[in-house]
Amino acid sequence: MKTIRKKIKVGISSCLLGEKVRYDGGHRLDRYLKDTLGRSVEWIGVCPEAGCGLPVPREVMHLVGMPQSPRLITVETNIDHTDRMLEWTEKKLDELGKARLSGFVFKSNSPSCGMRSIAVYGKDCFPAGTSPGIFAAALMRRFPALPAEGDDRLKDPRAREEFIERVFAFK
Ligand code: SF4
Repeated sequence: MKTIRKKIKVGISSCLLGEKVRYDGGHRLDRYLKDTLGRSVEWIGVCPEAGCGLPVPREVMHLVGMPQSPRLITVETNIDHTDRMLEWTEKKLDELGKARLSGFVFKSNSPSCGMRSIAVYGKDCFPAGTSPGIFAAALMRRFPALPAEGDDRLKDPRAREEFIERVFAFK
């Protein structure tokens, strides 16, 4: 009888899987992640911005305020979506906790999904520091031991190998 082995579940920013959820209605499909690594893991796609009810396409957002507790604000109309995002994120993290993920791949340079070094702008519109994106920060706070990496780093074969090892060790 054939043994069916369950794939390891790994979360991922869903635009990296080719889902058209970005602010401009596009995606950021990463063929290596989706097709090659996707043979070994089951991707659990998450788009925090579309998930919390923002439309596609939508206005560009950025982080504003204190780098320790930035706000997620639309660039042109200055609408604060932080509370909406945080409320949705808490429920989503409960769900992801039950799914027993073994890792997460974040889309870099996003005020929601970026894992590190997202510019936070002060009142004078100049960068006041950096922070992870709002969703990424909340996920890393809730699951501090979960292997996580940004798609930009995973273009480096050594970083990729190390991340895959961490995911399998975590499992
Ligand atoms: S980076 Fe995150 S919030 Fe932005 S489109 Fe991709 S999944 Fe959605």
